Amino acid sequence: MSELEPASINPATGERLRSFASFTDAELEGRVARAHAQQRDWAARPLAERADALRALGAHLRTIRGEAAATMTAEMGKPLAQAQGELDKCAWLCEWLAEHGPAMLADEPRSRVAVEGSQRSYVAHRPMGLLLAIMPWNFPWWQALRFAAPALLAGNTALLKHAPNTTGCALAIEAALLAAGFPEGCLETLVASHGQVAGLIADRRVRGVTLTGSTRAGRSVAALAGQHLKKTVLELGGSDPYLILPDADLDHAAAVCAKARLFNSGQTCVAAKRFLVCEPVAEAFTEAFLAQLRAAVVGDPTDPTTTVGPLARADLRAGLEDQVERSVAAGARVLHRSEVPDSPGAYHPVVALGSVDETNPAAREELFGPVAAIMTVRDEAHAVAVANRSDYGLGAAVFSRDVERAEAIARDQLDAGACFVNGMVRSDPRVPFGGVKDSGYGRELGRHGMLEWVNAKTVWVD
Ligand code: NAP
Repeated sequence: MSELEPASINPATGERLRSFASFTDAELEGRVARAHAQQRDWAARPLAERADALRALGAHLRTIRGEAAATMTAEMGKPLAQAQGELDKCAWLCEWLAEHGPAMLADEPRSRVAVEGSQRSYVAHRPMGLLLAIMPWNFPWWQALRFAAPALLAGNTALLKHAPNTTGCALAIEAALLAAGFPEGCLETLVASHGQVAGLIADRRVRGVTLTGSTRAGRSVAALAGQHLKKTVLELGGSDPYLILPDADLDHAAAVCAKARLFNSGQTCVAAKRFLVCEPVAEAFTEAFLAQLRAAVVGDPTDPTTTVGPLARADLRAGLEDQVERSVAAGARVLHRSEVPDSPGAYHPVVALGSVDETNPAAREELFGPVAAIMTVRDEAHAVAVANRSDYGLGAAVFSRDVERAEAIARDQLDAGACFVNGMVRSDPRVPFGGVKDSGYGRELGRHGMLEWVNAKTVWVD
């Protein structure tokens, strides 16, 4: 795919709202130099001062939530209430980390790592330096802050290369940090091409690279980072299976599954994408699930009654339409297809596909939009086997009234970075988030996420 130009195009109307000039190489160098120079000063500040900056950012985000959410909705089409919720979640992340992050970064107590023969030995968590973050448009604030908040608290500084269609959000993120009192250079938003990004990955001042986005992009950025021996954290695509066991509470499962499929208009890495329903309850679950999908309202994302907005770009809609067509050609049956507004927006209907087998594109590929793939499986063991045969391994969920049994499946049998029982897979500042297999590696959030961007340094006094 050719590179997109940095521009805000309202996906609900097709209207071009704003274009942005890409940085010249000289502008880019100025930003990189500033972020690199700032890092030592920032890291030298007391941890409590960095935590205070995060707390102030949280408070600031609560004051700008309306305006920031409106820009997000205008750029990528998320229903407005969900965009406001994203800002609130970012504020919570900052506040939670300000409170609990410093303890995660404390030196590891001597008693845990004392080495015989040393006077004193311990592990200090020191920042890695300047980091590069490549981010997607689907949660433009959350994805960026999920990486940046802990990384900054640890004393790193960051370069943010955001998706070209959410450049307005990217610039607003940088502005929010400055308004909250972060010094210039802590986070620099770059409007940069792939070629310029490749130069940054090679740049010795950049000490680590993270990418949230497609598996394809992850492979190419990780290959380059590998050549230059840069640590990477990759948060990539997913095709989360939701297992419906014969003893599940079907009404509850259907409601959660519909929400997990349609949230953010279906454009979520950890959205429910494959519904693996045990044969004895396949008909009853499908009926309850379709009733939930029929209640969805596809429309103008600024209208409070809308539950599913347009897709973020017209080319993404075309891609999803193609996946649905190929899935139907391969044997899937269309069980539901909703209406869409009569408008030039990038609207895609809510679609439910039944009779999906494992070879079907709807089972093998990630469906990044409001399209559900329902697969009937024989029993629990078959459900687990099909769930795990995917190339992806981001999240998974199990529905059963036997919570202990479902928990054992979640804990011991499913190949995924996060497994939920009777609930929707979601990220939370308090617990780590990330995938296995083609969904990437490394973790964000929680203590594990915090420690991705530190040098765990052994200090030994003889
Ligand atoms: P994408 O096309 O991979 O783009 C993601 C970011 O990577 C964008 O900023 C993009 O910029 C950049 N990029 C892509 N190729 C690049 C290259 N060769 N060099 C430098 N930058 C490059 O993904 P998307 O369509 O925006 O997002 C949807 C995907 O992200 C889905 O697969 C979804 O599951 C995944 N996702 C994963 C998570 C997670 O936490 N695991 C979270 C959200 C989304 P350009 O547009 O300029 O190429």
